[in-house]
Amino acid sequence: MKKRIAFISEHASPLVTPGSVDAGGQNVYVGELAKQLSRMGYAIDVFTRRENSSLPRVTEWMEEVRIIQVDAGPASVIPKEELLPYMAAFREDMISFMEEEQISYHLIHANFFMSALVAMELKQLLGIPFVVTFHALGHVRKIYQGSQDRFPPERIDIESAVILQAGQVIAECPQDKEDLVNYYQAPVNKITIIPCGVNLDEVYAVDKAKARELLHLPAHEKIILQLGRMVPRKGVDNVIMALTYLRDVKLIIVGSNVPASSAKADPELERLRTLAKELKVDEQIIFAGQRDRHELKHYYSAADIFITTPWYEPFGITPLEAMACGTPVIGSEVGGIKYSVADGRTGLLVPPKDPVALAAAIVKLLRDDNMRREMGSNAIKRIHALFTWECVARKMKYLYQQVINEAYYEKSHIY
Ligand code: UDP
Repeated sequence: MKKRIAFISEHASPLVTPGSVDAGGQNVYVGELAKQLSRMGYAIDVFTRRENSSLPRVTEWMEEVRIIQVDAGPASVIPKEELLPYMAAFREDMISFMEEEQISYHLIHANFFMSALVAMELKQLLGIPFVVTFHALGHVRKIYQGSQDRFPPERIDIESAVILQAGQVIAECPQDKEDLVNYYQAPVNKITIIPCGVNLDEVYAVDKAKARELLHLPAHEKIILQLGRMVPRKGVDNVIMALTYLRDVKLIIVGSNVPASSAKADPELERLRTLAKELKVDEQIIFAGQRDRHELKHYYSAADIFITTPWYEPFGITPLEAMACGTPVIGSEVGGIKYSVADGRTGLLVPPKDPVALAAAIVKLLRDDNMRREMGSNAIKRIHALFTWECVARKMKYLYQQVINEAYYEKSHIY
């Protein structure tokens, strides 16, 4: 019999295009992992909060992966900071779905602290074991965002309770594990490090000249790329400031909180545009907006260097995507980036919020064609060896099996 796994991802659905304020790495993670695990013999149901009344209750997304719309609060987009009050309704609607379908699950994989709250309650009510990937931790966010952090203060207590109740906590990188231990006193034997991955059918190296031609980018200029969600913590302003020290370099910025088809303005992009004008570097920048996943390989391949300098980063899938396209990465020496980018071999690490250090690293790489070529080829090898979703899913399968077995032994009083 196939093992049934429920994914809970309250605010991040694989059906939503990533690139906006609350749609990014988690949407990609949930979709890609579900896809790979279904190929390894699991049946996956992804439970996500209904944001759109026209979607059916169940979408057969691919073979053995269904996306279930959970009715909890208004059927519209609500900022994730405001979702906690709807989690009781989320839990009840999940139970109704299981009753309607007459199914249960061998395991729940919760994503983010609110989904983990639901999973913890379902474990108490129905005895289903769960694992959790937090994707971001309340404590860490508080440190960096201070009073800008609008999540309810209960977040940290919920995370602490979840750590005690979970079968295993998945840390995305060594820094994530350290944070779980230092800020939450998480028992080390409850944490397994499993990174994020890249879908190599979707993101791969394309001939640079061809990619530039397709995107109507200059053939011979030096091009650096910033791609991701447009939120202040991603440090896009740091890259714009670094441009003031660079001549003859074009910066492409991909990402926007509004879709390319919309005429609405994105306040964060407006802030960045104003900054670029004030610093007189606006003519060196191309704002490309939110792009679909099938276009990303062209942007990554067209660039000489990919830049990502967030203040902190729980994991960061974009550096992996750039490396998969053979593009060296300059990233800030934080969180998952200092794990995925091998400093000096697949790119360079710099301190965050330091445009001078960033500019110096850019100059160093742009001057040395051989170094960039070598880093690009090392990057592809590193991705293939360590960071494909297939490799991530294999580790996850092993972990699931361990947690399912332990729960079974506990229930049958074999211990
Ligand atoms: N992304 C996208 N289109 C865009 C901008 C971003 O598809 O216009 C994707 C990007 O390729 C990556 C994800 O959004 O897969 C961002 O994930 P990451 O882990 O880097 O950051 P997070 O969103 O988790 O903070």
